[in-house]
Amino acid sequence: MADRKRAFRATVQGKVQGVAFRDAAVRRARALGVLGWVRNADDDDGTVLVHAEGLGDALDAFAGWLGEGPAAARVDGVVVESAKVEGHEQFAIRGVSAGAFVVQEHQATAHHYDFRLEVDGVMRSWAVPKGPSLDPAVKRLAVQVGDHQLSHNAFEGATGSGGGVIIWDRGTYEQGGRVPWPEALDRGHAVFVLHGDKLSGGFALQRTGRGDAAKPQWLLIKRRDDAAQPGSDIVAAQPRSVVSGRTLGELLG
Ligand code: MN
Repeated sequence: MADRKRAFRATVQGKVQGVAFRDAAVRRARALGVLGWVRNADDDDGTVLVHAEGLGDALDAFAGWLGEGPAAARVDGVVVESAKVEGHEQFAIRGVSAGAFVVQEHQATAHHYDFRLEVDGVMRSWAVPKGPSLDPAVKRLAVQVGDHQLSHNAFEGATGSGGGVIIWDRGTYEQGGRVPWPEALDRGHAVFVLHGDKLSGGFALQRTGRGDAAKPQWLLIKRRDDAAQPGSDIVAAQPRSVVSGRTLGELLG
């Protein structure tokens, strides 16, 4: 069965949380044709976690390499457990910021929240009429709109004609999923992790196929994780700007 894909999860213990170990793991995995990810464990005891999938010989070679690591790393031990093949299409470092995200509450002709993710130097943008939710059961319509410049992330103020913008939340995010970005967005299914003041944890953007070419429709969905808050309504509970403390109503006066 040497030609069938297998997968493993590995815990690499030792002084291995430096960038060099993860970079070296990516290079070795790619050279072997192994797919998956490497990330530092959340605890700070120096442990690194790996998901790897590929053909048997390559996977064995990669597991052997993890036991030794690059010259600068000190590997104390590796625990390898077989895992399910998840269908990854890359080998990537997880848990590293991909850039900024911002949610701007915007009173224009219609009231909405602009949800923006930094991708390749621009802010990919979606207008979310009801705003984001931390309830995994809630699917929020997100209409893709034109890219914005990063400089707009800091804008808060009146826009004339009774309109205005507050910075409802902001922070950094990690790109996730089995497919590399920005291809994941092109294919219409993007998974990511937010680190904001109000929004945190995993989210997904799923294109629905509705809407026209200029304004494709997506759904913004909270993933089920420790940051999920079933039954909550975060936009109602926390309406104030994370920058000025004002509500949009107070700004519009
Ligand atoms: Mn807007």
